[in-house]
Amino acid sequence: MFQIREKDEKTKARTGVLSTAHGEIETPVFLPVATKGTVKTLDFSDLEGLGVQGLIVNAFHLWIKGLDSVQNTGGLHSFMRWDRPIFTDSGGFQIIRKDFDFKITEEGFVLKSPVDGKKITYSPEVCMDVHSALGSDVTFVLDDCPPYRSSMERLRGSVDRTTDWARRCKAMRRGGQEVYAIAQGGTDSELRRRSAVELSEIEFDGYGVGGLSIGEPRDEMISSLEVSVSSLPEKKPKHMMGVGSPAEVLESISNGMDIFDSAFPTRNARHGTFYTGKGKFDIKKSGFAKVKEPLGPGCECFVCRNYSTSYVHHLFKEKEMLAYRLLSIHNLKMVLDLFAGVRMSIKENKFSTFAEEYLSEFTT
Ligand SMILES: [Zn+2]
Repeated sequence: MFQIREKDEKTKARTGVLSTAHGEIETPVFLPVATKGTVKTLDFSDLEGLGVQGLIVNAFHLWIKGLDSVQNTGGLHSFMRWDRPIFTDSGGFQIIRKDFDFKITEEGFVLKSPVDGKKITYSPEVCMDVHSALGSDVTFVLDDCPPYRSSMERLRGSVDRTTDWARRCKAMRRGGQEVYAIAQGGTDSELRRRSAVELSEIEFDGYGVGGLSIGEPRDEMISSLEVSVSSLPEKKPKHMMGVGSPAEVLESISNGMDIFDSAFPTRNARHGTFYTGKGKFDIKKSGFAKVKEPLGPGCECFVCRNYSTSYVHHLFKEKEMLAYRLLSIHNLKMVLDLFAGVRMSIKENKFSTFAEEYLSEFTT
């Protein structure tokens, strides 16, 4: 269930409260990505210490290797030792990652099992069974997410299939689990509108906007997002799939998006990129070797309270495993602080000023 609390007067930004079986989430919210049941390098006490409100796990990635271990421990919450809300993504996005060799049929995704080489099908029905076995709070329907620059024929097929699959998923909705659809349509405004309208008519608990931030120019991303959001029910929660960079987050929130997930802060951390209010930096640069100050001015994360930039630089140069954990903690804190600032600014009706000031300082 979702309740809108405050609305910004100049934009479509809003705050809200999402109630789930494992507690409430204040929106706009950022969900760290725990693709295979872990936010890489972090444990649950790290995440709780950071004030993480919820996580998103990939149902497909867990299914492909077998769900026995998760089911034996009574579901994802006890398996991961995480008692706050868990979202499970369907895995439709995997087809553009090319990690797996998929064939798309009307039945679902057909692929070869990495476990025994047998042909297996990941259908909307299998996807919903997986969500149920995992026991997550919010689930996403299986969608067909075409890559950027797909042909119109491919985009039309994706919208038709996504609507058909969403209907099949809705038919399998279980109590205690919310089901969110995912609007597609590439960067074609008419298809964007049609996908959102068709999914709205089926009525879901919430709506994801998918297939954006996958290589398209920024103006096309924004115009596509605007069409999707304006064609979806205003009162339902809206989830921006896979978007985490500050500029895109703030743009999306001003268009009415409520929930975000992205591997952006943790993946970048593992590559040595860290963030401050001023932008992004490479910890491996030799200039950081003698910096006694913490990574982020004013940052109150565990890392900035305890370590110098020089120490983190040293760990990275030595490829020490602690380096990845420390930068992941810091980067997540930066993103979570951004969202806390956004929520506060909407409550005070100052969102536009907050966004402008943030972006004028933050250079990418
Ligand atoms: Zn920090």
